[in-house]
Amino acid sequence: MLNVRSARSRIFEQCSKITPESLACESVPLDKALQRVLAEEVYADRDYPPFARSMRDGYAIQAQDALKVPQDLPCIGEIRAGDTVRLELHAGEAVQIMTGAPVPPMADTVVMLETTERISPESVRILKAPRPGDNVAPKGSERLAGEQVLAPWITMGPFAMAILASVGKSRVRVVRKPTVAILSTGDELVEIEAVPGASKIRNSNSSSLSAQVTRDGGIPVLLQTAPDEVSALKEQIRKGLEADVLLVSGGVSAGKYDLVEPVLMELGIKIHFESVSMRPGKPTVFATRDAKWVFGLPGNPVSTFVSYAMFVSPVLKTLQGLKYDTLPLIPAVLEAEIVEKSGRTSFLPAKLFRKDKGFVVQPVKWKGSADIFSAAEANGLIIIPLETKKVSRGEIVEVLVFEECNSQMEGVF
Ligand code: AMP
Ligand code: MG
Repeated sequence: MLNVRSARSRIFEQCSKITPESLACESVPLDKALQRVLAEEVYADRDYPPFARSMRDGYAIQAQDALKVPQDLPCIGEIRAGDTVRLELHAGEAVQIMTGAPVPPMADTVVMLETTERISPESVRILKAPRPGDNVAPKGSERLAGEQVLAPWITMGPFAMAILASVGKSRVRVVRKPTVAILSTGDELVEIEAVPGASKIRNSNSSSLSAQVTRDGGIPVLLQTAPDEVSALKEQIRKGLEADVLLVSGGVSAGKYDLVEPVLMELGIKIHFESVSMRPGKPTVFATRDAKWVFGLPGNPVSTFVSYAMFVSPVLKTLQGLKYDTLPLIPAVLEAEIVEKSGRTSFLPAKLFRKDKGFVVQPVKWKGSADIFSAAEANGLIIIPLETKKVSRGEIVEVLVFEECNSQMEGVF
């Protein structure tokens, strides 16, 4: 059976055919750009800072005028943020200046207010000898006009927003969000609002997959749940192929009513693999048709989640021009012994937390791949490699972390 690495490689092979430049883009207003992927190069429209800028409230002077302190200097006026400098500063003089105000040409230093004493309305006492250049950001010292300030294919955060605002871009080109159709299958499934009959269950995979897609920057498109029946499956799969990616959950194992794979083949969809040596997540199908990506994910809710994380997530990254072949892994000290008999790569829901200067991880007790209740206590998955049969307490393991992890990793400073 294909191992996890080889299965991911097969997906990467398809991913590598897509260049970020070939992706569809759109222009959005700046306030809608957070977390979107930038699809253009952004350049400085002027020097930054655009003028020699005071970094402190204090007094602009020439450093050589205060080599010996205390030193009293005549104060010839003040310059506020936003002011145009009109006054002329001469050697041996000081001018009061505010943070963000332009430093007059003759001054090379700003002495911070805290190391001065205003001894009279006309003069200031410098209490600490400055070095030339102190508290002055020279014009263009951050970026020069025309220099690139943002490179494309990054997920934009608050600083990117600040840069775009600074250079005057009220609209920005971003990669179009990929659409991801989600089709849950199974005769036993009923919708959330329904009261399930004794042998029925509510469809939870559509909700968890939809959440994973949204977190990955995609637009989930929920299809009508399909029964384990060829014609209904075919109809929904056809609809799903209108999206960039189609996720089908359930119906991909070896059971008599697992009909997804034959239906995919009937529709001319090329199957790249149909099972992976992993636990949970073994019956995972990866298929493509032209530019469409199709995944058959195992029905058990935790399996679906793990398969999505390992195989679908890279595709959503690819479709947004992002690096696709890495995972959010954190090495951590294992708090309990793990014996692994499956002979497959295993993914164990676990709690990662801070301890002293590093991270430790504790597997959660769970009742198998349907147990979302125990899985929800986890903030990551311990990955036990294929060849490993036992990991002892105190050894380092790799943990695939969930976003939920952020809050649990918080420390007090
Ligand atoms: P299957 O992969 O279709 O054999 O399903 C495996 C297990 O997952 C069965 O117990 C199903 O009832 C369950 N399952 C399948 N689809 C869903 C779903 N959408 N939501 C919750 N459980 C599901
Ligand atoms: Mg089923």
